[in-house]
Amino acid sequence: MMRALVLVAALGTFADARPAPGRRLAIDTPVEAFLPQFRAAISRVIYLERCEGGCRVNGGSVNDAKTLTSTIPSPGNYNITEFENAGGQSGAQADAEWAQIVTCMKEVYSPFDVEVTDVKPSSGSYHLAIIAGNPQEIRLEANVLGVAPLASNCAAFDNVISFSFSSAHRQSETAAHVQNVCWTAAQESAHAFGLDHEFEFVDGRSACSDPMTYRMDCGGQKFFRNVAARCGEEELRDCRCSNVQSSHRNLVALFGAGTSLTGAPTVTMTPATGGGPLPANVIATAFAKRGVAKLELFLNGFPMTTVPGAPFGANGQLEASYGLVPPATMPDSIYDVFVRATDDLGTFTDTPTITVTKNAPCTSADACLAEQKCEAGKCSWDPPVGELGDTCGFDQFCKGLLCRGTADLQICTQTCSVEDPLSCPQDMSCNNGVCFFTEGGCCSAAPGDWMPAGLLAFLVMIVVLGPFSRAKPFRAPP
Ligand SMILES: [Zn+2]
Repeated sequence: MMRALVLVAALGTFADARPAPGRRLAIDTPVEAFLPQFRAAISRVIYLERCEGGCRVNGGSVNDAKTLTSTIPSPGNYNITEFENAGGQSGAQADAEWAQIVTCMKEVYSPFDVEVTDVKPSSGSYHLAIIAGNPQEIRLEANVLGVAPLASNCAAFDNVISFSFSSAHRQSETAAHVQNVCWTAAQESAHAFGLDHEFEFVDGRSACSDPMTYRMDCGGQKFFRNVAARCGEEELRDCRCSNVQSSHRNLVALFGAGTSLTGAPTVTMTPATGGGPLPANVIATAFAKRGVAKLELFLNGFPMTTVPGAPFGANGQLEASYGLVPPATMPDSIYDVFVRATDDLGTFTDTPTITVTKNAPCTSADACLAEQKCEAGKCSWDPPVGELGDTCGFDQFCKGLLCRGTADLQICTQTCSVEDPLSCPQDMSCNNGVCFFTEGGCCSAAPGDWMPAGLLAFLVMIVVLGPFSRAKPFRAPP
């Protein structure tokens, strides 16, 4: 009951003076309204239906895409009119725009092991995404852009219909219409897979680049983001079934990973040729269809300067140039230099490597940074070998390039968010932004490969010695 109230309140908050942006609804639906035989296995097919000649939809007490039955409309029969393009044309005249919407949906769902098709499957179950018509045709208000059932326990269900009312999208320009309809269809189909609305990422950025958003503060094609987000429509609220939500992570957990169709980032570097001095500022120009998440300046094999990707604007994230300043603390040395551009899925592209010199080649490790050696005029660290959880002495020992802990125990770790329990591996929890061993966590699970024997012995010793001594070494790292 609380959830129903929250939903009504959230949908009622359009009090500001701007025109209502249109609503992409998730209807809280009891689990009993989904057919039991479609609860266990979720098919990998998302069928996009443009309703040529109209779709005959039934309002009923269960959701059954095979018989075009949905709990969204009241009991009765309804006709949803055929898909129309931005210019209000249907039939063959709308084929070109329909193909763009299909392509957009294929791209958005490509990181997952699903098949997006507009050819009706001849056998097996599927998710039915109706992309056609107007909301009034199933007696919803004119500003409803889409609607789908969201199970009250946020479970994913198969054989469900989601509705994206393409004719309710008012953009008269084709590209904008395609992107907005695709946004709605991605969101509504994902509601049936258990996803909630996202408001902002845990780092505070707007979730406007994810299709699960209601927000209009950026545009462009939206993608399910590999970043934990807080939930909400017009304002923050608790997520329905979890602390935070990562739409990408949830869909990978449901379907498994696929191969992204949008490609790796492109990146170029200035200067493009070496032989000179280490530049005071390396310029990188980068682009990715789903956006560049970060750029890193590599010096002798290690990222020494990192900058975030540009903010998403009205047309998404455009190609941009970034300045990467080598740290002033870099010692005199020969340097192999390249820039890496990485997207939010971790897919990256490196520029060609150039070789430059800061003042003069090194002649001794004494003049290099801590733990570096000097070989052939280059100060450099050995390739990192430390796995997550290994004891360490400095960042570059760790594959994750992060060594943190207490004076007693430093481990190779990773950054995390206290709001997101899944941002740390099992047996670790988030302390001051990095993962650290959970107090007492050693005894409830078998030790994994990442736990070195010495550390395991240490943990066993702590338990044997009892709670008094257990507390001390497991305080939060600085
Ligand atoms: Zn929605």
